[in-house]
Amino acid sequence: MTHLVAIGGSDAGITAALRARELDPSADVTVVVADEYPNFSICGIPYYFTGDVQPWQSLAHRTSADLEATGMQLRLNTFATDIDVDGRRLAVRTPSGAVDMIDYDELIVGTGALPSRAGIAGLDALTAADGVHVIHSMGDTFALDLDLAERQPESAIIVGAGYVGLEMAEAFIARGMRVTQIQRGGEVLSTLDPELGALVHAEIAAHGVEVVTDTTIGAIETTPTGLTVSGSRHGAPYTATADLVLVVVGVRPNTELLERAGARLGAGHAVVVDEHMRTGLPHVWSAGDGVVTHHRLLGVTYLPLGTTSHKQGRVAGENALGGDVRFAGSIGTQAVKVFDLVAARTGLRDHDAAAGGYEPVTTAASADDHKRYYPGAHSIAFRITGDTRDGRLLGAQLVGRYGTEVSKRVDTFATAIYAGLTVAQMSELDLSYTPPLGSPWDAVQVATQAWESAIRVAV
Ligand SMILES: Cc1cc2nc3c(=O)[nH]c(=O)nc-3n(C[C@H](O)[C@H](O)[C@H](O)COP(=O)(O)OP(=O)(O)OC[C@H]3O[C@@H](n4cnc5c(N)ncnc54)[C@H](O)[C@@H]3O)c2cc1C
Repeated sequence: MTHLVAIGGSDAGITAALRARELDPSADVTVVVADEYPNFSICGIPYYFTGDVQPWQSLAHRTSADLEATGMQLRLNTFATDIDVDGRRLAVRTPSGAVDMIDYDELIVGTGALPSRAGIAGLDALTAADGVHVIHSMGDTFALDLDLAERQPESAIIVGAGYVGLEMAEAFIARGMRVTQIQRGGEVLSTLDPELGALVHAEIAAHGVEVVTDTTIGAIETTPTGLTVSGSRHGAPYTATADLVLVVVGVRPNTELLERAGARLGAGHAVVVDEHMRTGLPHVWSAGDGVVTHHRLLGVTYLPLGTTSHKQGRVAGENALGGDVRFAGSIGTQAVKVFDLVAARTGLRDHDAAAGGYEPVTTAASADDHKRYYPGAHSIAFRITGDTRDGRLLGAQLVGRYGTEVSKRVDTFATAIYAGLTVAQMSELDLSYTPPLGSPWDAVQVATQAWESAIRVAV
């Protein structure tokens, strides 16, 4: 009987453990989790703060009892401190503070990522008790919740306008707070081209968010009037003050345990794994936000996402039991709802593609989500990237109103990119049509046909 130990109670660790139990019900599976919230959907945290998801317990994908019913053992509030690779033993700090050793045959490390601090001075010294927050775990969620309840802050500065920052801006606005959102780059949601980011910018501004772009925050401090962030904007000093500061500037892989055990770091300072999720250390596998990402179009990169962590965890769980499956690779498909808009992307943007050795052209188009004569039609804005050498579809970006199926339409592109289709082949897809839901040429095909036309004109 294999004794498999997984470290981490989030997407990667739990998926690996579930897969192992599913494939071999006799496998002895133990999951070591630093806190007491295994299998919580941290992706859902912003919706707890909007009030859409209540109580916080509903964020659990599965309860501890559900997980234990699959036959795995949970060791909660237990922190893995060291891996003895040669002895195949894991040292842990138990809830009482004692050191315990857990023997394993195979070990899967899913310690994920930690919020990035972006070198902001003062951030390490200030805590939730001071009104300064990050958001990555249920612990962070409870700390923010408590602060909101106790101090009733009226204003917030959000440093960062990536997808988590935007979701949290919506949450704070829903709670009646004044929100200033500060972004280092020239436009919000920098994972999209600025032309589409501008639509998201307009949406949050229309809902009352003060958007400050081209601004780098270098320090946070408490002042008599509140929490003051300072930095530079277009080369000039910039300061802003609010009752609460939330810093959401991305994540850094949590690699300490594996690094100490001798694992190698690669892209994004994440642990190097192969497509089988092998770390190179005997009998040690890893998956999730702590490891590099194999990208189908770019090779090895770092692209931490929940969807990817699930897939990698599943591969690690199967291979740790002697399987031979590969992580097929990410193409960075992602979607975010921002107030009444949805923004999504998959594959490569022009500059990623050029850097990856492709010869891309990107074109813009807009198309109605369904026939205009049927009530409620809205236009979706697209940007399509294809390779001019062979017409291969490389990427798509979309922004449309909530309800225009932007996220499912991006999935059509994701499927096509996975299959290696050309832009022209998108028009061959037999997509559904009925006037309230689509058009004879679906919006995605209108957008890819616009790319084809632009290429013909250019040639
Ligand atoms: C607010 C928010 C919204 C998000 N929304 C989306 C989304 O919509 N779509 C999407 O695809 N992704 C989203 N993500 C990203 C997604 O949540 C992460 O990619 C995913 O959770 C990574 O899973 P993971 O298992 O690698 O690690 P993590 O979620 O980072 O979890 C790490 C786990 O390891 C445990 N741990 C760490 N160190 C130790 C140790 N030494 N000993 C024991 N246990 C340890 C932690 O307690 C935790 O259980 C979001 C993230 C956030 C924060």
